[in-house]
Amino acid sequence: MAAIPSIPALLPRSKAEVGTGFSEREARIVRALSAAAMPAGTFLEGGGETTLQRLKRWLDGVKPVYWSGLRALLWTAELASVPFTGHPLSSLPEARARRFLEAWSQARSPRARALLRAILSPLKAAHFDDPKMKAHVGCKTALAPLPLAERPRYLERVTDGSHATADLEMECEVVVVGTGAGGAACAYELASRGRAVLLLEEGRYHRRDAFNSRASPMTRMLYRDRGLTIALGNANIPLWAGRAVGGSTVINSGTCYRAPDRVFRKWREAGLGAFSSEALAPYYERVEGMLQVTRASRELTGGVGRVVARGADKLGYQHGPLLRNAPGCDGQGVCCFGCPTGAKRSTDVSYVPEALKRGAELVTSAKASGIDVVGGRARGVTARLGSGHTLRVRAEAVVVAGGAIMTPLLLGGTLKSPALGRYLSIHPAAKVMAVFDELIDMDDAIPQGYAVDQFREEGLVFEGASTPLDVTAVAVPWVGQRFMDLMEAYRHVATFGFMIEDTSRGRVRKGPRGSPLITYDLNAADTAKMQRAIGILSDLFFAAGAKRVLPMVAGMEELGSKEDVAKLRSMRIRPGDFEVTAYHPLGTCRIGSDARTSVLGPDHQAHELPGLYVTDGSAVPSPLGVNPQMTIMAMALRAAEGIDARLG
Ligand SMILES: Cc1cc2nc3c(=O)[nH]c(=O)nc-3n(C[C@H](O)[C@H](O)[C@H](O)COP(=O)(O)OP(=O)(O)OC[C@H]3O[C@@H](n4cnc5c(N)ncnc54)[C@H](O)[C@@H]3O)c2cc1C
Repeated sequence: MAAIPSIPALLPRSKAEVGTGFSEREARIVRALSAAAMPAGTFLEGGGETTLQRLKRWLDGVKPVYWSGLRALLWTAELASVPFTGHPLSSLPEARARRFLEAWSQARSPRARALLRAILSPLKAAHFDDPKMKAHVGCKTALAPLPLAERPRYLERVTDGSHATADLEMECEVVVVGTGAGGAACAYELASRGRAVLLLEEGRYHRRDAFNSRASPMTRMLYRDRGLTIALGNANIPLWAGRAVGGSTVINSGTCYRAPDRVFRKWREAGLGAFSSEALAPYYERVEGMLQVTRASRELTGGVGRVVARGADKLGYQHGPLLRNAPGCDGQGVCCFGCPTGAKRSTDVSYVPEALKRGAELVTSAKASGIDVVGGRARGVTARLGSGHTLRVRAEAVVVAGGAIMTPLLLGGTLKSPALGRYLSIHPAAKVMAVFDELIDMDDAIPQGYAVDQFREEGLVFEGASTPLDVTAVAVPWVGQRFMDLMEAYRHVATFGFMIEDTSRGRVRKGPRGSPLITYDLNAADTAKMQRAIGILSDLFFAAGAKRVLPMVAGMEELGSKEDVAKLRSMRIRPGDFEVTAYHPLGTCRIGSDARTSVLGPDHQAHELPGLYVTDGSAVPSPLGVNPQMTIMAMALRAAEGIDARLG
């Protein structure tokens, strides 16, 4: 693939051009692109005018900056065809445009492929985010939002910062920034010990009637940056996080594991003997009690659980339903888009309400912008409210728990630590799809309900990764007939994922307009580990009877036999050739014994600033090799005990 016009060159130049809506020419590009990328199938509607109308609806209410970004992408596609065909894309006959997109999707350059993904993803998402598409395929339809029970009393302790009519001042003993895994657990423990706690949360407190089971609107409502956070580097990895009361726990899969002993052994060797399986066991037990952790029911792990169990049995691997925090789950299949029934015990339905019942206060739509230091101690926080007003909080101690992406940005104005924002680990993840003769119906089960445990000690964890129809459409990087054929076969597709305990490290810095600039390169050892994992999973699917296995590795996207798996194992794969994603940012304010290479001491207090504590994923010293929410919570409970003791 030759040069593609740069996006900045295509960005609107005057303010008048920055608005919402498409020009007639842009509308034509959308029609041409979507018709070429998504031809009609046997029963699925093809792209074209329908896509344009759905895209306009899909973008309703989106800020002008996103529109201008999308317009720039459309123009990129329009002009990219000129060097190859002599014509802009929207002037090409549909079949020629399709051939051009097919060639582009197979480009050798990972950047060129990523650009096409960026262009087509909104079109695919909008086209498939329609109840009719699910009906055509025969998928189950979304659950209508459940009626709300009576407004619980604890909500009286919640103030919505977007309704404030003046600047506010508040006072408490401990102010906690962030209501995700680390912030909510810490606030609960301190409130339980009689401390006056104030929680601040940038996002809103969504109640159950706002959860409509549809991936696109839920992503916009619950994800940071509408789900567009990317770790830039040799694999350009989407790195998701939540932004709402409950943080990432609202959008997580509900998997619950204690960190393995070998991780604590490494920490001990690094001088962190305070953390061990035994020392953390009582905290883990309390977390498991609050989250009501139980093993997923075999029945609710659905078709994916069935075929993975069959394949793992054939290969002699350990496997089984995994531990989760959703005891009343009925398998709605949309954990990552907000649990519509409230069965998942994310912190918005567990630790936060329990903290409020114990006297804590919560201000939502309140983004902490700085730490207030008095006499060399952290003594409060300044926050920007959704209404545009300012909130000043005076406190005896400050706990920051904005997550590993945001916490270093907030602390960057106060701490000078060279370790701040560094040592980012993310548990890089990928998935493999497989097409079976039998019905799988992966959207009608727990998306991450089953695990293959055989390789845990190697830091290779295989867990379910099912996605609804519209998310699958975006996840598959294909275009043209084979794309639509696969989407029509959706009910026969099983998806299973894995993540690795990474040795690569990235960094978080302040980017344009205060947003996080994340960089992360996958190193050779991790790339090899991912290749090994994809091989294992491909073998497992063939052992289970899959007809086709789709590892989605560039140059080997589809395998038809075990011999193909052998080829995949021996081919040279570059980091950008995988479809990598990540969900577990850790370590950017890590705990350590050396102030040059860590930000916090084992008591979670900043080496540099007494009274400032961090209790989220950023404090975790290294990757865990398992899903981290339980460890973050257990460490936060332990930290809260220490803070309480020090307050006297
Ligand atoms: C899609 C997905 C699936 C996952 N699945 C699992 C799983 O199955 N099991 C598991 O163990 N883990 C899972 N995780 C990871 C897990 O949810 C996170 O590791 C965990 O929630 C991180 O906790 P935290 O406290 O570090 O941050 P978060 O839970 O992300 O909470 C941070 C909160 O702070 C708020 N905030 C940030 N900055 C500010 C500020 N300046 N002022 C005010 N508020 C602020 C944010 O809005 C957010 O609400 C998943 C994550 C994702 C994204």
